[in-house]
Order: sequence, then structure tokens, then C-alpha cells
Amino acid sequence: MLTDLSKVRNIGISAHIDSGKTTLTERILYYTARIHAIHEVKGKDGVGAKMDSMELERERGITIQSAATFCQWPPDAKAQKTVMAVPGSPIKAHHHINIIDTPGHVDFTVEVERSLRVLDGAIMVLCGVAGVQSQSYTVDRQMRRYKVPRIAFVNKLDRTGANPFRVKEQLREKLKLNPVMIQCPIGLEDKLEGVVDLVEMHAYKFYGDNGEQIERGPIPTDAMHPLASHGHAGTLKELCDKMREEMLDGLSLVNDELAEAILEDKVTPELIRKALRDSTVALKCTPVMCGSALGNKAVQLLLDGVCAYLPEPREVENIALNLDKNEEPVVLESDPTKPLVMLAFKLEDGRYGQLTYIRVYQGAIRKDDFVVNVRNGKKVKVGRLVRMHSDDKEEITEAGAGDICAIFGVDCNSGDTFTDGTVNFAMTSMCVPSPVISVAIKAKDSGAEINMSKALNRFTKEDPTFKCWVDPESAETIVAGMGELHLDVYIERMKREYKAEVVTSPPQVAYRECITKKVDFNYTHKKQTGGSGQYGRVAGYAEPFEGDFEFVDEIKGGAIPREFIPSCEKGFKSMIAKSPRLGVPVVGLRVAINDGQSHQVDSSDIAFQEAARGAFRDFFARATPKILEPIMKVSIEGPAEFSGNILGLIMQRRGIVMGSTEEDGNARVDAEVPLSEMFGFSTPLRSSTQGKAEFTMEFAKYAEVPNNIGEELLAKAAKAKADARK
Ligand code: GDP
Repeated sequence: MLTDLSKVRNIGISAHIDSGKTTLTERILYYTARIHAIHEVKGKDGVGAKMDSMELERERGITIQSAATFCQWPPDAKAQKTVMAVPGSPIKAHHHINIIDTPGHVDFTVEVERSLRVLDGAIMVLCGVAGVQSQSYTVDRQMRRYKVPRIAFVNKLDRTGANPFRVKEQLREKLKLNPVMIQCPIGLEDKLEGVVDLVEMHAYKFYGDNGEQIERGPIPTDAMHPLASHGHAGTLKELCDKMREEMLDGLSLVNDELAEAILEDKVTPELIRKALRDSTVALKCTPVMCGSALGNKAVQLLLDGVCAYLPEPREVENIALNLDKNEEPVVLESDPTKPLVMLAFKLEDGRYGQLTYIRVYQGAIRKDDFVVNVRNGKKVKVGRLVRMHSDDKEEITEAGAGDICAIFGVDCNSGDTFTDGTVNFAMTSMCVPSPVISVAIKAKDSGAEINMSKALNRFTKEDPTFKCWVDPESAETIVAGMGELHLDVYIERMKREYKAEVVTSPPQVAYRECITKKVDFNYTHKKQTGGSGQYGRVAGYAEPFEGDFEFVDEIKGGAIPREFIPSCEKGFKSMIAKSPRLGVPVVGLRVAINDGQSHQVDSSDIAFQEAARGAFRDFFARATPKILEPIMKVSIEGPAEFSGNILGLIMQRRGIVMGSTEEDGNARVDAEVPLSEMFGFSTPLRSSTQGKAEFTMEFAKYAEVPNNIGEELLAKAAKAKADARK
């Protein structure tokens, strides 16, 4: 059992694509002796990096799904035959590090957010040449939202043009962090040899086939400034002295204890480390470390940094929602003796059934325990408990608060909370954003059809923002999600993992309609067909509303008999799924009934439902409905010479520029653009920027469509209706 939580780190590694996240993760697993050979990421040897367990990811070289893997640092005595701890390191005790692989792409909002909740700290990998890039902003936004303390790792210092000092400035200026460099590289580009630790003022160099031999020594007196070939004068020693001053200055601004020690001339490495740790955990600074993952330089020191500066589980506040008290927030305690609360944050299909990754937030889970799924109240037995190492697993008997592990054979959805049954807490709100885009899919043949339904079943379980249904009118299978790429990846996974080839129709934007003013209604449904007729009258008002839909019963004196009130509600509700004109969901509507009439013989459930439907059609047309469309937050970054072209692309797409910056020859434009205008955006972006710009996109809000577009949509819908009637 893990009792010493001070030695536990749950971390994520975040990065812009291609900054070296996969390579770094691979090196970490190697230096912690979890794997015994290093493979090139994009698999020349066909093996591929360990973390990319999905074939699709392997091919693309990017990591889409989160997985958790466990390692220990420093390596234990047995492992130290092949790898070694940092000589003279203050990190002596073994730390237990869970690495949660955070999918970087913004389209996977729910999955990203779920994995961010699970981690306590993160390594932010930056390319030493490219520095802060477009996805760095997105990741930064998410990390801020979840208050994740970070260490920045400036990677690829062996590349031509690498400059960690510039990257540090970008962290300050572009991301508004308080970066504190705690290392200085020894040499740069092809001359990179290692780093100087500015806390202890020791130099570290790396030898051996994979940099596993670490040598510690004094700062070499003959070494020059790392940027000497770029005209920077001075020796490495002079630079390190200056950087140490800067580090202390920077830290003393956010740490009084250190500021005092500086005044009294009592600074010790221990004090500096404590100040660094406290300020990092309090989100007041971001230590900047450097090296080269591919070049096998300084990754071990980064692991020391993770243990020294990133928080342990108890230092992070975790909040659950009390479902018995209207989702009131409750602070959980990382205490194994408290009632169990754990979150299933990731599912995987394995050979032995469903594998569910969990994070224990409070209490402890033991093998053979019974736990309750808060979503459906089901009690399940946890038969097997394992610690995951990418594809391999290690059986364990228990896991305590703060730990991450996986359970077998428990049927649940991703995002479900489990407890011991004594509390009714959920780790995530039960509210899930509605999809903004949909595509109709059709299996190519009957074999593919069975596989397709298997795949859809799995995906909808994993990802609550991915929805699928059969359209009752067209009988087509519709899948819907949070963006074009979101759906693309699932369609790709269907093909690769489930051998389900599907054809897709062009994507459809999820429009909505809402009314814009309050209107009264008074509608009578009367039908006389032979025997007993149908009669019902409903009256009341409809008005705009903040939420999706609300039904209010203001009937006094029994104008409509009690038993028919639910019929009225049902009638109204049946209309909001498809608006009368456009056939899209109606949102933001409150309907109140305050009068009506019934007939002793002819009134029935059906009659009042029909009356409500009639009333709906009547008031909806009069309440000046407007059409809403999803608007995306789009960030585009590229060489400044193309900023005119980029702005042009946004303008052509009804976009609104929210901000633009230009720096070091790089331009960045933030805009809000309707989703309907963003289909296939990468092609025009590429052609108007010589392929040098990149963009990211996430859902921002719904907004009213302009009149002309609204009219086009209505005309199209009317035509489709007429065609269907032919
Ligand atoms: P990811 O997309 O962030 O996971 O990045 P990868 O780990 O796949 O790395 C992208 C590319 O950069 C690969 O070709 C790596 O070999 C290369 N790379 C990673 N780390 C370094 C490094 O430290 N130096 C150099 N020169 N290349 C690196």
C-alpha cells in the first residue's frame, strides 16, 4: 500500500506536436528501467515508442488517447546495473511516478479535460528552436483552467538554432508565466554536452550508448557561453553566475523566505529548492529545465525536478460534487481511511475484457472490494487490480488515495465515479456539452456493419461528447461530436481497430433554434371522428429561457385536470427535438400553461399532447425564432509575412478577429469563426501560407446566424421537405 504520499507524483507531459513528447516519455521509461531498449519514435525498427499503443497513433506519430504508465525514480538497486541515479542528487528515496498521457489535440475536449483532472503536475515540453507554438497556447489554457503546476522542459537543444533563453522569454511574454531557469546548457546545437544545475552549481554530462552514464563535476572553466557561436561573449562560468543571480532574484519576488535568506546571506541549495517547490506548487513560478531527449541529455535531471518541484497528491485540492446536495462542491482528502471516491478516466479494450484506468481520490481500493457506480447505483466487484505500464501490467492488491491504477472487467463508462457506497459524490458534473457537428455514416458491407456497431458502442462509452443515433426519417446512422477532427479520428479508428469501412456524408453543423420574445398562446385541439372524439385546450405563454427547456404548470382551479398536465408537458417536449421550420433542436425555451379546458368524454392523454403540439407550432412561429450556429475559437500561427493572408482567410469565413500579435517574425491571430465555414480549413490555410501556418480550434459558443444565411438554411430545409414528399 502506498502510504507515503509525499513520494507520489501524478504527472502529465504536454506539448505541441513534434516537440518530442513521445521521445521524452520513452527516455523516461528507459532511465527508470521500465523498458530496456530505446526505439525511435517513428519506428524505423517497427516497434515504436511504448506509450503509443494504438496503431493509429503509431502511424501518425502523435498520441491521441490517454493512458497511464507507472515508473520509479531514482531507479532501484537492481536496475542501477544499466541506468543510474543522478550523482549527488538530493532525491534519495524512491518516488512513484504515474505518467498520464494527455491527448494534446483540442478536439478531444472531454478526454483532455478528464486527464487533466487526474494529474497533479505536468512537464511542458517545448522545442528549443520553435519555442512556444500554437498548441502550447491551447495546452496552457487548459493547464491554467485546472491550475496544474508545471516544469518547462526546453527540448531539442541539440538542433541548429536552438536557444533556451529565447524560449524562456516566450514563456514570459506569450504565456505570461513566471519562468525561472534553473539550468544552463553546456554547449548548444551539435556541441550540446550537458547542463549546469544552477541550484548546486554543478555540471552534468551524459555518456554511454543512451546517455545512461552521468558524470557530475565542477563547471568547466574552459567552456564558453553556449551561444558563443552567435556572438555572445563570456565564459560558461560567468553566464552561470549571472543566471544564478537571476534565478534568486526571480524567486525572491515570489518567496519571502528566500528573499530574507538572500538579505542575510544565508542562501543554501535546500532553501532554493524549497522556494522553488513552494512557488511552483503555488503556481507562482515555472522552473525551466533543458536538454535533449533524442540526444539523451539531462532527462534524468528532469526526473529529479519532477520529484523535487511538482506537487504530491495532498498538495492539490480535489473537488467532488455532492449529488445529494444539488452538486454542491466537497473537498476530498487524500486519506486512505476516508470513504472511497475514485474516477474512471479511461477505458481500453483488452484481451481480458474492459480495462478501466482509475484515479483514487479518497479512501483506498482493495482487490475483491465491492464498489458502487454513482451514475447508475450499480454495485460491482473489483476482481483484479493492476498497475499499468503502457501495454504490460503488474498485479497489485490495493491502491490508496492519490494513486492511479487500473481495474479489470468492470463495466462502466469513462468519467464514471465509484465510491464505497457510503457517500454519493461524483467527480464530474453530469452535464456534458452537446455535439456541434454530425455526419451520416454507412457501413460498406454487412460484415462492416456488425463491426461498426461494436465500434460505436465502445466509442460512445469512452467519450460522452461522441454521440450516435439512427435518424428516424432517413434511417441513416448519425454520429456527432465536438469537431471535424474528432469525428475523423473515430471513423479512422473504426477502420483500423474494428475493420469497419464506412462511407460518410458531408458533415452537418448542429444548428439550433430559439425564440426571441414572450408570446401568449391559446390553442384548442378538437377532432371528431366517428365514436369518441379528442378535445383539449391549452393556454399560457412561452418565453426565452437561460437553460435548454423548462415547463411550468401555473394552472389554478383545475382548468386542466391534474392527470393531463404531464400530457401537456410531454406534448411540448416532443416538439423541441425538431423545430418546425428547420428540424433542429429548440433551446432556451420556457413554456408555462395557466389555463385550458377539458371535455368529460373526449379529453385524453393523446388529446392534450396534441393540443400542446398544436400550441407549440402556433406560438413558435409568432415568437420570432432565430437560428443559432456553433462558433469556434480559432488560433492561427505562422510567419508574419502571411498575416495578411491569414486575416483574409478569417474575413472570408465570417470570422471576427479577437486579437493578433506579431513577434520575432511570427504572427498569431485569434478569431471566432462559425463552424460551418471551417470545414476543410487546413487546405486553404496551407495554400495561402506555403504550408507554414498552423491552426487549432475549439468550440466557443452558439450565436445567431446572419439573416441571409438563415434564409438560405430555411430555403434548403423547405426544399428538402418538399423533395421528401415527392
Ligand atoms: P511528439 O509529437 O511531441 O510526441 O514528438 P516526437 O517525440 O514524436 O518527436 C518528434 C520528432 O522530433 C521526432 O523525429 C524525434 O526524433 C525528434 N526529436 C525528439 N526529441 C528531440 C531532440 O531532443 N532533439 C532532436 N534533434 N530531435 C528530437
